[in-house]
Amino acid sequence: ARSIGPARHVTARVAPLGSRLVLALVEDRTRERRVEAVRRDFVANVSHELKTPVGAIRLLAEATHEAAEDPVAVKRFADRMLHESDRLSRLVQQVIELSRLQGDDPPDSPIPVALDAVVEIATDTSAIDAGSKHINIVTSGTHGLKVLGSEEQITAAVANLVANAVAYSEPDSTVLVTTRESDGQVEISVVDQGIGIPNKEIDRIFERFYRVDPARHRSTGGTGLGLSIVKHVAATHGGDIRVWSAEGQGSTFTLTLPHHSSGAPSTTYQEDRP
Ligand code: ADP
Repeated sequence: ARSIGPARHVTARVAPLGSRLVLALVEDRTRERRVEAVRRDFVANVSHELKTPVGAIRLLAEATHEAAEDPVAVKRFADRMLHESDRLSRLVQQVIELSRLQGDDPPDSPIPVALDAVVEIATDTSAIDAGSKHINIVTSGTHGLKVLGSEEQITAAVANLVANAVAYSEPDSTVLVTTRESDGQVEISVVDQGIGIPNKEIDRIFERFYRVDPARHRSTGGTGLGLSIVKHVAATHGGDIRVWSAEGQGSTFTLTLPHHSSGAPSTTYQEDRP
């Protein structure tokens, strides 16, 4: 049989290092428990958020059954099912994105990321939504800027800001995406003329699943995860995210990331995204 030595042997080995080691071990356990609590909380929130669209789709399917003889009602229910299932797939995608970000941050080997490509992909992602609301997306600023980091994560962050700007804007307005360098930092600003954010809510919008008065914009079908992804990307890249907003006038989100200077010349530009 394997014998585990008497406890005092362990004490004897730890003793020369003093109480600091014990303290470090206790702190480690506390941190582990906190991480575990945050994870449990996250899983509980995700399950709760998933239940809403799943429940709605089920009810709508039942209603469709009952309205089988009424083509107008069937079409209305089908449209709402499409809307709910889109919301569901966005939610699943963002949960995957967020958990992946949390799993492997900071990026192991950051590479120089060209912002021009980031802005192009980010604006393309919202092109269809913008088009259907006649929202004009304009890009301007400095060409040729680079930041160090993960292209996928930075693109996800900017795409979330542009998607929000489009979602919370009235039809026939403009969303402006600008890039510029200032003091060794790169700033990417997304400016909209949308509904804005009440002052008292501004501190909370970066929390996971937090949405300003969901009834105010139920039709956008958001998940409340987009800005927590942006905040996470900013933090893991040594940057930050700031917001200015006035209700009824619009919002400006500015993501700041450390500039990667490649020595290549940069040029200014202004373009309407098709
Ligand atoms: P959502 O999926 O609901 O858009 P986010 O985390 O991206 O979740 O944003 C959190 C909340 O912040 C949104 O529900 C919305 O109320 C508010 N918000 C975010 N961006 C804007 C914006 N550009 N204009 C107005 N409100 C915004």
